[in-house]
Amino acid sequence: MDIKPFEKKVWLSSPTMHGEELKYITEAYETNWMSTVGENINEVERQMAEKIGCGYAVALSCGTSALHLAMKLAGIKPGDEVLCSDMTFDATVNPVVYEGGVPVFIDTERDTWNMDPVALEKAFELHPTAKVVVAAHLYGTPGKVEELRSICDAHGAVLVEDAAESLGATYKGRQTGTFGDISAISFNGNKIITGSAGGMLLTDSKEAANKTRKWSTQSREAAPWYQHEELGYNYRMSNVIAGVVRGQIPYLEEHIAQKKAIYMRYKEGFKGLPVSMNPYNPSVCEPNFWLSCMLIDANAMCKQVRGESEALYVSEPGKSCPTEILEAIAAINAEGRPIWKPMHMQPIYRMNAFVTREGNGRAKTNAYISGGATGADGLPLDVGADIFHRGLCLPSDNKMTPEQQDVIIEVIRRCFE
Ligand SMILES: *Cc1c(COP(=O)(O)O)cnc(C)c1O
Repeated sequence: MDIKPFEKKVWLSSPTMHGEELKYITEAYETNWMSTVGENINEVERQMAEKIGCGYAVALSCGTSALHLAMKLAGIKPGDEVLCSDMTFDATVNPVVYEGGVPVFIDTERDTWNMDPVALEKAFELHPTAKVVVAAHLYGTPGKVEELRSICDAHGAVLVEDAAESLGATYKGRQTGTFGDISAISFNGNKIITGSAGGMLLTDSKEAANKTRKWSTQSREAAPWYQHEELGYNYRMSNVIAGVVRGQIPYLEEHIAQKKAIYMRYKEGFKGLPVSMNPYNPSVCEPNFWLSCMLIDANAMCKQVRGESEALYVSEPGKSCPTEILEAIAAINAEGRPIWKPMHMQPIYRMNAFVTREGNGRAKTNAYISGGATGADGLPLDVGADIFHRGLCLPSDNKMTPEQQDVIIEVIRRCFE
């Protein structure tokens, strides 16, 4: 195969519009509801609550603002330790800090790439005062929500579910976003459906939904003037953004089917290579397949070293590494991405505790700096660092054609030659 760069860039995951978005935006314009009030907002709240199966969906400016108000509802106070997913986008944990909370990072499990329930249990032993857990579903694959839920219940902790990446994914037939006491979803531009921006807080509690509505519109009290008893925020979704979301909602299932086909095509295309896809257990869950990811077998990794802002690798026959593959993908005008760098490895969170299934993860050296601890499987005990080291996100845009995907697969195969 003679490989030439794509004329038009193949994105990691870009917005896919269908036309109806324009109709609802136009409606907002023509009726002059160019505001944070209007029919589109009412409709997306109603439709999403129904689709997901939660009592209330409150439309907000973004997923991060939904998570911020979730932290307030969870009652985080300055100095409180909060047990958080470690391998995730930093928007999962920053809202904890907005409220003065102190994130304690919980290591990742190998079988879902989400918060490890064993490590969570360990964390409650080490941090018994923690009363809030924030768990994300990475790349659209549900974590072990039942286990996480029952550990939270046993310790009287509130579970905040970050379902920003997993809209439409199910666990034992139930939608993600319904397992947390409070959950957040996102309509950011690269999510499975988008409003260009926007997000929602999900809850079964009428009281929590009402508080969220009030806080997100500057906390006005019922009075003839602007009366304030509580701190307010300008976090409400715009009726124009809601128009885009409203137009996208009917296409959620179609997008999921396209993303699943992309995942399966990669899986098939990588047969015989020393790699695996981001894992899930089809007998308990159905992901939304937002991003397809790959993990290189430990013994097929060429030498790769990452500093704080640069990476180096040594190319080797039969082996490869994420840096080499990402460069090869970029060279044909396609977009891949490293795995989310775990929070415990981020300079901003270097002083925070990190708990692996073996206990205090800070006591172990990073496995990729000499002397790192390994488990019985010979793999590093620091699972997040290991997946970050060996994994990457593949171009997963639902407008990518099968022919383009075949070229990407071929380019990756050549990295292992
Ligand atoms: C996208 C994302 C968010 C934040 O959503 P925004 O709408 O961009 O604020 C939060 N958590 C995770 C895991 C995400 O991927």
